[in-house]
Order: sequence, then structure tokens, then C-alpha cells
Amino acid sequence: MKFISQQKLELDIPTTWLAKVEQVIGDFDLAELSAREFARLEKLSTAELDQILDKARKHIISENSSLWSELKDILSQQSNHKCWYCESLELRSDNPVDHFRPKNKVAEAKKHTGYWWLAFDWKNYRFSCTYCNSRRVFTDTDGGKQDHFPLFEPPKRAGLPGEESQEIVVLLDPCNCDDVRKITYNIEGSPIPVSSNSKSRDFERAQKSINLYHLDHSLTCRARKQIRIDIDFMVKEVNEFLKEGKTGKASNVKEKIINLIRTDSEKPFSTSARAYLRRHIGTRWVKELLENN
Ligand SMILES: [Zn+2]
Repeated sequence: MKFISQQKLELDIPTTWLAKVEQVIGDFDLAELSAREFARLEKLSTAELDQILDKARKHIISENSSLWSELKDILSQQSNHKCWYCESLELRSDNPVDHFRPKNKVAEAKKHTGYWWLAFDWKNYRFSCTYCNSRRVFTDTDGGKQDHFPLFEPPKRAGLPGEESQEIVVLLDPCNCDDVRKITYNIEGSPIPVSSNSKSRDFERAQKSINLYHLDHSLTCRARKQIRIDIDFMVKEVNEFLKEGKTGKASNVKEKIINLIRTDSEKPFSTSARAYLRRHIGTRWVKELLENN
């Protein structure tokens, strides 16, 4: 999982886009006013009013769905076109913008009508590949976030704008610099929780995120394992070059390693490459290379 700074992202959000969002927010307000007036005149129950409001909001969301697609290139550029969840290269999907808090419904809360008020909030957008975002089932694994948004202490789930701050979120968030450090990778390329305490919340969050983002898909694990093999080989190669005094050749290989581990490079799965290089941290040049890149 790659850390994405929303402070940096904010710089790139166009003012013209924000102005369009303002208009849609105005539509939400208008829809609510007219629904309340209609309910008053028709003496509708609260449940009936809620139903009308839900329908009106979903209509506004669907009518303006092109708005989040407009940001996909900007979101993609933040990660050099890599999925923020799994770090695979995401170049072809039609719909690579995931709403971190689902906009229309929540799989874990059947009566919840979704976080409609965050449908047009760029802070709720995550650039995501189809494997992480949509439900996929294979013989050995299944996953895909879809409308899932599990919470610790579900009664604290937000039903109104602003109540999100009281939620204790289960899924790890690429926009949180602490969250991205809660998953690491074993030598087979599989993602595992950093925490070894299976009863801890950190462990549960990592495990649930691995499952729902489908980070354990076999092809992804295989690609990470290949990176581990390549890193081990290159570290050995540099050590041999250095022993023979061939510093130029050693530097060339180090450059290749740097390209693999830098999370801002275009190489996929760089967080796992970093974790694999860290296995050689006892070697001085590796330690220095990790500290400086
Ligand atoms: Zn992905």
C-alpha cells in the first residue's frame, strides 16, 4: 500500500472542479428543501421522507458521476499510475476512482443509505485497480472492496455529514501515513500484518484490508516474490562487485535497486521491494541506501 499525501494532492485539485462541486452541493440542499416541503404538505412519515430523500440524492449522484472521473488523471499522477491499495500499474480501467466511504450503500449496514455527502468530496477518492475495487472470485482467493466499509463499534457509524470523525475505521487507508506501515510481505510475496498479535486491532485491520482489497491475489503475490528474488540477487551482485573493487558496476546495480524501492517510481509493488531490501539491512550500503531513498 502506497502513502498518498492529501496535502500534496490538494495543490492539484482544479478550482473549476471545486466550483462544479459547489453547484452539486446546492442541488443536494435544494432537493432536501423540496422533499421536506412535500412531506409537510402530504403529512408523510419520517420513514417516507427518508425514502424520498434517499432517492433524490442517489439521482443527483448518478447524474453527476462524471465529476469524480474528471479527477482520475490527477489522482493517478500522485502514484505514477499505480493503484493506491496494491501498487500494481493501473493504466486501463474505465473507472479507477474508489469512494473510500461508499457513496450509495454499505455492505456491513443494510439500512445505511451510504455516505452520499462524500460522493463529491475529493478527500474520499482513492485511485484503485479493478482487483482492489470490484468483487473478483478465483479458485484460491476472492476479494474486492465494493461497498464494504467495516467499523469497530458499528453503532458509531456516521449517518449525517461530519459524523465520520467518530468512526473507528477497520480498513487501512493509503492516505494515512501510519496505516500504510501496518502491512508487510513474506518471502513468498504474500501480504501479512506487521503486528504479530492476532488479537490486536492493528492485526485485524491489516488482515481485513488484505482480504477486502484482494492484496493476496496469486498473480500479485507471484510478482512480489519475483521482486524479492531480484533484490536478493542484486544485493549479492553489489557485494561481489564491491569486493572486487568494481565500484562503477556496483553503482549501476544500486541504481536499479533504488528504482525498485522508491514508492514514487513507476515500478509496481515498491513497498514490498523496500521490505525485501530491508532484510539485508545488516549490510552497511543497504542501510545507507534505504535511509537516503
Ligand atoms: Zn489494486
